[in-house]
Amino acid sequence: MAERPRIRIRPAARTSPTLWAQMRLCTLRAAMSTAKEAEGWVLHSPRVWLGTAFHLLMAARPPDAGEAERVWDSAIAGLLTVSSGHRLDRRFASPERWPGYYMVRQRAIASAIQSGFRPVSARLPAAGPRPLGGAELLLTARDGLLSGRPDQFDRQSVTEFKSSLPDPAWPEAASLVEGYWRQLRLYAVLVGETAGWPAVARIVAASGQVLTRNVDRRECEAEADAAVAGLRSMNEGLGHGWGSAQLATPGEIECGQCQYQAICPAFWSWCETMSWPQLRQPAARGILQAIDPGFDGDLYAITLRLDGRHGEGGLLPLALRRSVHGDLTGCRLGAQIRIVHAQMRQDGRLRADISTCVFPEDELPDLEFWSSA
Ligand code: SF4
Repeated sequence: MAERPRIRIRPAARTSPTLWAQMRLCTLRAAMSTAKEAEGWVLHSPRVWLGTAFHLLMAARPPDAGEAERVWDSAIAGLLTVSSGHRLDRRFASPERWPGYYMVRQRAIASAIQSGFRPVSARLPAAGPRPLGGAELLLTARDGLLSGRPDQFDRQSVTEFKSSLPDPAWPEAASLVEGYWRQLRLYAVLVGETAGWPAVARIVAASGQVLTRNVDRRECEAEADAAVAGLRSMNEGLGHGWGSAQLATPGEIECGQCQYQAICPAFWSWCETMSWPQLRQPAARGILQAIDPGFDGDLYAITLRLDGRHGEGGLLPLALRRSVHGDLTGCRLGAQIRIVHAQMRQDGRLRADISTCVFPEDELPDLEFWSSA
């Protein structure tokens, strides 16, 4: 049998707004996000790619619609090239099928042309006076323990671009937007220690919507202190030989949207002890009972005997597509299968959609934890 791949979890040299956002939920999640090998087991989101394309567009500052379209299309083409080589992400090969693609494209292009932002430097000078502004510059603070690339800053403001803002009626909208402000508090510290404190923080959406807040320096400093303390605590834990059980804080909010569910041992232990919690996108584990290879080379079905609550309705036939979920028709009967980010049918049984990932358990990687001992 082939050796299982390994994901090596090491201490991190510095934290960042992104790492801090993960760490606030779960230290194991943060630790995995620093491991390059883990990326291959994560299904990324086209929503994030739209944000990346919007950043690139705003940084390019196109003079007219034609140039803006060219910049946008080239950014999307670059993202597709990368995703086509990723075992899970290649399912998103058609941008026109990404949620809201054309609307975000149109609004992003309009925003990039209409925005009154001044041209800014895209490089940090090797020497000389501190920059008065910049876009996507790598800044560090707190003796190098905090780093990040604010989308844009100048003497007055620090700005974060988002492809969209959540619908305020959505139950998680407020916490999502609060996460953006948290990110901006850290960017304000990075800018503050590099170029002087900005007075204002802004979130600019592709729709043209702008949210603005005054920068509260004390609040920002406290956020940076907490982020650095979190980094130290994670590294100390790893130094003491902690593994997934000690680093993880599993829970419905923490794990619900976590990209690492499939490869996280703490998650599957928690699911078992919690009698398979009702996540918005359920996860399940079961034994492969039968395979129907299908007729068209794409659609096929597997039948599973699922553990716990999800198995109460008897054997589950699960329709899958090779182009989306990969090909499990070569798996041996009796293999343990993990399903993450599934959907629930009206009859309470699981189904797979474009966000669902299905893995034979013996092909998943092991986590290998660093210890200074
Ligand atoms: S699945 Fe849960 S326990 Fe595992 S890393 Fe993610 S948030 Fe932490």
